[in-house]
Amino acid sequence: MLSERYRNLLSTIRIRLVLWMIVVVFGLVMIAMFGVRQLYRNRLLEEFDQGLQGDVKVISQEVHQFYPNPDWTRLKQSIDKIAFAHPLQAWFVEIYDESGRKLAACGHDPKLEPFNKHESASAHDSLPYRLIVAKIEESGLPVLYFRIGADRQSMEDDLSLLDRSMLARSLIILLLAPLGGYILALRATRPIAKIIATATRLQPSQLHERLPIRGTDDEIDQLSKTINGMLDRIADYIDRNREFVANAAHELRSPLAAIRSSVEVALNRQRSPEEYGTLLGEVMEECQYLSNLVNRLLILAEGDAGRLGARNRTTRLDKIVRESIDMFEAVADSHDVRLTISGLTAAVVPGDEFHVRQVVRNLLDNAIKFSPPGSQVDVTLRADAEQSRAVLTVRDQGVGIPAADLPHIFERFFRGDKSRQREPGRTSSGLGLSICQSIVQALEGGITVASQVGAGSTFTVTLPLAEQPPSRDLLENPAA
Ligand code: ADP
Repeated sequence: MLSERYRNLLSTIRIRLVLWMIVVVFGLVMIAMFGVRQLYRNRLLEEFDQGLQGDVKVISQEVHQFYPNPDWTRLKQSIDKIAFAHPLQAWFVEIYDESGRKLAACGHDPKLEPFNKHESASAHDSLPYRLIVAKIEESGLPVLYFRIGADRQSMEDDLSLLDRSMLARSLIILLLAPLGGYILALRATRPIAKIIATATRLQPSQLHERLPIRGTDDEIDQLSKTINGMLDRIADYIDRNREFVANAAHELRSPLAAIRSSVEVALNRQRSPEEYGTLLGEVMEECQYLSNLVNRLLILAEGDAGRLGARNRTTRLDKIVRESIDMFEAVADSHDVRLTISGLTAAVVPGDEFHVRQVVRNLLDNAIKFSPPGSQVDVTLRADAEQSRAVLTVRDQGVGIPAADLPHIFERFFRGDKSRQREPGRTSSGLGLSICQSIVQALEGGITVASQVGAGSTFTVTLPLAEQPPSRDLLENPAA
């Protein structure tokens, strides 16, 4: 339980930032301390050696005063005095001639290895002494070697004083680092805590709260903006879905009410076979409408679920256009509308035949529905091989669409002014164009409209070509 709590604590950004800060600060302090210590140590050694070099000069002058006949006993006494007064601890000097013979040893006795004139000072680094070896050559005098050194404890004492003071300071820094780190991490993560609190409060039924934007335009602001954008889209989607369900329920309620009332009329008393026939016919008509409506709703639901895509299927669009025109010919005739094809190129497009057929039929249905008697509805299908697109247009000379309605005609359940509809009634559900758009977009195509009130409308559908079409126009050879 406790370890779980610690694990949860460690997984917070705040604590991880603090830990990282401690590691980084500790690392930097260590590097800086080590650098300063090395610098200081080198400086101390340099000073120590300079002092010994000075001693070499002094002793050399002292020794040379005794030449040409040096009295080594007196000389030793004289140097011992220097050693006694020397500020360095355990100061000593050993004097050797050219052959390596020891001529005198004054001051402290360091008990060093026998002298070797090629030895280097660093050979004695392991001893508690710091020493230098100097060769003394002066004209007219014999060559001498001095081994001069002293206890380096004083230098080590200085160093350990430095170590202690740096350690104390770095401990203070290390204590302050987590505190500073925590304050910084708290400041940096407070907006995140706000985001979490707001996001936790959000419910699908109340998605209208938004995260605060502080105006700093930093990563947190960017994140808040991104989440707010996402919330806008989700809220919009939920609102549209809610509206869709309400509209769908409303649309289903009217035919159901009509069916119910027909059945009630049939049941309330004994009727003639003709009356029953009429009532059943009405029920049948409403059932037909209901079935159409449900099918349309299902297509839209498939579109929302992303299941209207091509899924490796292709369709001969020209075939579908011709079949649909044949099918609508009788309806068009009955409304005294002339249905013509002014161009029909072979075109294979991706998509399910059923869905592509829905698009063509909805457009033809609308075109005939909104056309006055004596007018013409013209269909063309071109295959633009260069752009690899099939372009289908359905042009009517009907009532046209008011500019105010144009942005809405692809919305679900949108129906324009009913008085403009040539045949107001049950065939219109306001779903036809939204289904067209859903299908066409799922097939990576597009649908547009150009319309003028009183002059007519032109709907243009573009779909990608699935295969390169034969270039000829099928109207010249409809059997192809
Ligand atoms: P419906 O299924 O009711 O026909 P649509 O979604 O197909 O619904 O059309 C929505 C609205 O767009 C129609 O009610 C009508 O106002 C307008 N509309 C569509 N096609 C045409 C057209 N060819 N001419 C004039 N108005 C049209």
